Amino acid sequence: MDKKEVLMEVKHLKKYFKIDAKHILKAVDDVSFSIYRGETLGIVGESGCGKTTCGRTCIGVYQATDGEVLYRGKNIYKMKPAEKRELTKHVQMIFQDPYSSLDPRKKVHDIIAEGMRIHKMVHSKEEEKKAVQKLLQQVGLNPEHAIRYVHEFSGGQRQRIGIARALAVNPEFLLCDEPISALDVSVQAQIVNLLVRLQKERGLTSMFIAHDLSMVKHISDRIGVMYLGNLVELANSEELYQRPLHPYTEALLSAIPLPNPRSERERKRIRLKGEVPSPIDPPQGCHFCNRCRYAEEICHKNVPEFQEVEEGHFVACHRYQKELC
Ligand code: SF4
Repeated sequence: MDKKEVLMEVKHLKKYFKIDAKHILKAVDDVSFSIYRGETLGIVGESGCGKTTCGRTCIGVYQATDGEVLYRGKNIYKMKPAEKRELTKHVQMIFQDPYSSLDPRKKVHDIIAEGMRIHKMVHSKEEEKKAVQKLLQQVGLNPEHAIRYVHEFSGGQRQRIGIARALAVNPEFLLCDEPISALDVSVQAQIVNLLVRLQKERGLTSMFIAHDLSMVKHISDRIGVMYLGNLVELANSEELYQRPLHPYTEALLSAIPLPNPRSERERKRIRLKGEVPSPIDPPQGCHFCNRCRYAEEICHKNVPEFQEVEEGHFVACHRYQKELC
């Protein structure tokens, strides 16, 4: 990526859900970032932090409460029907649960071919058959599996079918919503390796959502960390792992098991105080203030801005806000 081309630009995105007359859940609350063509942006955070809602709002599955998502410079919420149809071809999703995201009544062939038919990408049964078989091979499955039903496959194989379905329409952007978290640990690395390979071969751009930082490092060029609806840090993967700035990122990184048993015994794990607050009633000021070991008075009063503190390294924390240093 010599010259970075922005493929998706997310500006002050908000997605709120009304719970009842008095309560609103601010699942995504003023989040801004860009995704460059050809890169993988990892989005990480504990469950309930808003990462899945953020991903789905970015590709138009949910209508935003406020803010904009520009895809190739066009606001996806203001697209005409024909442009929206095009967008559903360019942008595909890989789901968390390979058990419930594939129709059990359909054969693998029909699951994979559906998108190609909708977008009129194949013109004969023979062409369709060849395209499906090629996709099955590309994701590491036997082409003869096309005539089987999904219940005949393991979790890892089902996720491969889900990937083949997403790739069938030749997309340029993939939203991978925790695609490995429902799988056995032994299978997770295989699926990550497959996604990395396919991304390189096809020049894909992707957003990879995960709940911890361990596996996401292997697939992401940059990583964003979310906490209670906010993006709290965003940096190049290597930089984020070597020099995390936000106290929440520090804590997440300290929880990753180290492969060397001695290093694992000796390293200090940062244990966060308390529980994740309810997103319906987050703390005043910095949402992390009730769990942060560095919290000061200002943290309980003012929301820290998400600022670029070094080139390409963004953080929302009063410790790094320029005017407060
Ligand atoms: Fe901790 Fe304050 Fe930074 Fe929030 S703003 S992460 S409470 S130091």
